[in-house]
Amino acid sequence: MVRRVFLGLTLAGTAGWGVWERLRGGDDGSRQLPAKVRIAGFDAAGRPTGVTEMATVRRTDAEWKASLAVDQYMVTRRGDTELAYAGEYWNFDGDGLYRCVCCGTVLFDSRSKYHSGTGWPSFTEPIAKENVAEAPDNSFGMGRTEVSCRRCGAHLGHVFDDGPPPGGLRYCMNSVALKFTPRS
Ligand code: FE
Repeated sequence: MVRRVFLGLTLAGTAGWGVWERLRGGDDGSRQLPAKVRIAGFDAAGRPTGVTEMATVRRTDAEWKASLAVDQYMVTRRGDTELAYAGEYWNFDGDGLYRCVCCGTVLFDSRSKYHSGTGWPSFTEPIAKENVAEAPDNSFGMGRTEVSCRRCGAHLGHVFDDGPPPGGLRYCMNSVALKFTPRS
């Protein structure tokens, strides 16, 4: 009887953790990625160099944890959100490209960055539709659209429809998921 209760509590705890992981929108580092994806390439000036098929970047959760800083890992691999007005890029106006902090894929050009007043770096569009994936995210009871890196599955942020004209989109990103490189 005692053993049965213990087992029941253990199972309930495990199930609870799974539900919590879904609610917070995190993954366990094993987000399903195809073997290959088509990624748009860009030179250091931001000029397109063509779309090529390349292998996705896949790591175990332990490998991601070992290769990233804690805040980078929690956002990109666990779906956390950095504090507003606290990241490196929300108030940054450098001219250049923003790459995925996990795999280096070029994701945004500073020419589409604007001051949204939210405290997070905001863009009107990704540098190429191929390079980001968008998917429904209903965690926390909010009907949001998650944006992730197409090549490695890193959680980047969300896209909202309250951006400036003409496109009306606001790609709300986490600074810690991005790495800026100056245009050259
Ligand atoms: Fe990536």
